[in-house]
Amino acid sequence: MKPYAYVRAATLDEATAAYAGHSGAHYLGGGTNLVDLMKLGVTAPDALVDISRLPLDGIELRPDGALRIGATARNSDIAAHPVVRDRWPVLSQALLAGASGQLRNIATAGGNLLQRTRCPFFQDTAKPCNKRRPGSGCAAREGSHRDHAVLGHSPHCIATHPSDMAVALAALDATVELHGTGGERSVPAAEFHRLPGDRPEQDTVLRPGELITAIVLPPHSAGLPSAYRKARDRASYAFALASVAALVEVQDGLVRRSALAFGALAHRPWRAHRAEEALRGVEPTRAAVERAVDAELASAEPLRDNAYKVPLARNLACEVLTRLAGPR
Ligand code: SF4
Repeated sequence: MKPYAYVRAATLDEATAAYAGHSGAHYLGGGTNLVDLMKLGVTAPDALVDISRLPLDGIELRPDGALRIGATARNSDIAAHPVVRDRWPVLSQALLAGASGQLRNIATAGGNLLQRTRCPFFQDTAKPCNKRRPGSGCAAREGSHRDHAVLGHSPHCIATHPSDMAVALAALDATVELHGTGGERSVPAAEFHRLPGDRPEQDTVLRPGELITAIVLPPHSAGLPSAYRKARDRASYAFALASVAALVEVQDGLVRRSALAFGALAHRPWRAHRAEEALRGVEPTRAAVERAVDAELASAEPLRDNAYKVPLARNLACEVLTRLAGPR
């Protein structure tokens, strides 16, 4: 392994200053993905800036009804939090669908968003990969790509984002709070990850040196019927082949509001605005739900080996939306 410097930051400003002071630095939270990538030789930082001791692990219900989840809160603590389970169950379900109990105990909220794709060619340093080495090519295009994207992919990269939590956050209209040398800003969770375009090496809209400080769940998504559903090759400890996070609010027999996001179909969680628009104000019959989901998935461009993902995602979405919209 390549030698690297290690700095433990006690404050946010110490963290960003340490990052700026070392070229090739990475922030270290729980390390559950970063350390794996270092062992594989995919990532070789010159310095690790350890942010795991920053006081960012709180989960706080604000007076306005929003929930602020600190960036270093552990995935298991968020999933088990009584307010999350009661008011935003889709987030708890998504977290419990991810990884293993041991990993959730150490993985942080911020790290969950920043985990890298599990494309096997990205993890194999002997293979060309535009995300790992820009301009080297994409081995997955002609190789095995059963798990890859069907929406929003580009000639440069067809990878999917692996996070379950991020899919729930996209459906919940969550925001991601960031801290950098230029100050604070926040970004909608649904826009935090990028589509690959011609720069697949850049997963997110983070600027150099910026770090995630918190995730905020808005009050308007609290308390609505919501659910996360994930299809995978085995019952636990596996990444999604397709997943769905959804919320539905029905009033007087008509859909007043819905939110739908797909996971494992694209380089980022895919917020299904077309489907949501098609459902607004209609009676949520099975036929209406199918029409709405089909309108969204009409833009899918499956590859040689992954056309199965489209009906799989369709069936998941129709099942979840119909169930949430049904009698309670
Ligand atoms: Fe790399 Fe993306 Fe191609 Fe996978 S799909 S090999 S991550 S460029």
